[in-house]
Amino acid sequence: MAQNRIYLCLAHMSGEEQKFIKEAFDTNWVVPLGPNVNGFEADLEAFVGEDKRVVALSAGTAAVHLALIACGVKAGDEVLCQSFTFCASANPITYLGAKPIFIDSEADTWNMDPELLEKAIIDRIEKTGKKPKAIVPVYLYGMPAKLEEIMAISRKYDIPVIEDAAEGFGSKYDGQMCGTFGKFGVLSFNGNKMITTSGGGALICPDAEAKNEIMFYATQAREAYPYYQHEQIGYNYRMSNICAGIGRGQMTVAEEHIAHHKHLCDLYRELLKDVEGITLHENPSERFDSNFWLNTVLLDASLQVKGQEHAYETAVQGAVGGAAGVTHASSSLHTDCEPNANVEAMRVALDKAGIEARPLWKPMHKQPVFADAPAYLNGVSEELFKCGLCLPSGPCVTDKDACYIVEQIKANIIR
Ligand SMILES: *Cc1c(COP(=O)(O)O)cnc(C)c1O
Repeated sequence: MAQNRIYLCLAHMSGEEQKFIKEAFDTNWVVPLGPNVNGFEADLEAFVGEDKRVVALSAGTAAVHLALIACGVKAGDEVLCQSFTFCASANPITYLGAKPIFIDSEADTWNMDPELLEKAIIDRIEKTGKKPKAIVPVYLYGMPAKLEEIMAISRKYDIPVIEDAAEGFGSKYDGQMCGTFGKFGVLSFNGNKMITTSGGGALICPDAEAKNEIMFYATQAREAYPYYQHEQIGYNYRMSNICAGIGRGQMTVAEEHIAHHKHLCDLYRELLKDVEGITLHENPSERFDSNFWLNTVLLDASLQVKGQEHAYETAVQGAVGGAAGVTHASSSLHTDCEPNANVEAMRVALDKAGIEARPLWKPMHKQPVFADAPAYLNGVSEELFKCGLCLPSGPCVTDKDACYIVEQIKANIIR
C-alpha cells in the first residue's frame, strides 16, 4: 500500500511470501490444507515452544470460538472474560449461547485483575450454583497479564484459561511465550497484527490429541465414513494454503518485527520523557516483556490540547479501523462513555497531520450490546479508556516518523 500517512500498524511483507504462494499454485495446493499450512504450523510450534501443538485457522476469532467449544462451553454457561479488550474476545461466548461475565483490569498491565477474577468466581458460584467454564485474559497491546496470579486461581478453582494472545504474539512473561500458559492460546494474523496472513489466526493446543479435536471442529466435524456423516456441529475455520504461505514468509521476519515495535517503545520513551502530562505505558517489571504491538500513552485529564473545546462537534465518517468494514451511521455525537475531549482533540490534530492515532479499546461492560452481562468492576479500564491513545507502532514506522509524531503531539499542547 502506497503511503505518506503514518498508520498504526500496517502489514509489512518480507518478500518471502511470494515464494511460498507460488509454490502453492505450482503444486496445485490452493485449498484449506497442504504443505504451507503444515509448514506454518511447524514454524509456529517452534516459535512458541513449550512442546505445544498449533492449529492454523481462518481468524483469531475462530480460535477463540473453538477453544471455548474445547473447554465444554455450552448454552447457558458462564465464561469470565476481560472487559478491556476488542469485541472478538467476548463475541464467540455469545455464539455458543453462553454468557460473558466481564472482569475489569488492574492498573499495572491494564489486563484482567486477578483479585476481581477470584471475587467474581466466588460470587458466580454463590449466585448460580455453577462454576464458570473458562477464563479469558487478554494481552492488551501486547502486554502480558499477571499470569502467576491468574494461573494460580485457575488451578485453585479448576477452571481452564484461554489466553487471548491475539495482540501478544512474541510477548513473554518470566521468559515464557504468551499463549503457552493456559489450556489454549489464541493468536491472530489479521492485517494489522504483529505478523499477518492477510487474515487468519491460530490456536495453541496442549497436545496432539487436542489439536486433532480442534481440526475436527474446524473442518465441519466429519466422521470417518465413505460419505458425509455428521454427529456434531462443525465450522469452516481452517486456514487456506495460500494464507499459510504468507504466514511462512512473515515468520522469516517475525523477530525483526517484534524488535522494531520494542525499538519504537524506546524511542517514544526518550522523545516523550520531558513532555508533562503524557505517560507512555511500559512493562511494569522485569517479569513482563511486551512486544509493544501498539505503543500507548495516557493524557492527564488536566492536559490542555488545542481545539479540545470543539471535540466531538462533528460526526466521524465510518469507525476507527473503518477501512476494514462497513459501519452504521451513528445516531449521536456522544455516548455515555468516551475518551476525554483532550484525547479526541489530540487524535483529530494528529489525523490532520497525517498520523493515525486511536483511542484504547472501549471496555465491553460499557458496550450497549453487552448491557445485560454481569461485570466485576473497579473503574480502571473506564479511566484508561478516557485518557488513552494508541500511537503508530508498526514495521513501517521509521525513527523519523516517531520524531515527527512526538513533534506534532508537543505542538498541540497548550502550555
Ligand atoms: C485481533 C483480535 C482478535 C481477533 O482476531 P481476528 O484474527 O481479527 O479474528 C481477538 N482478540 C483480540 C484482543 C484482538 O486484538
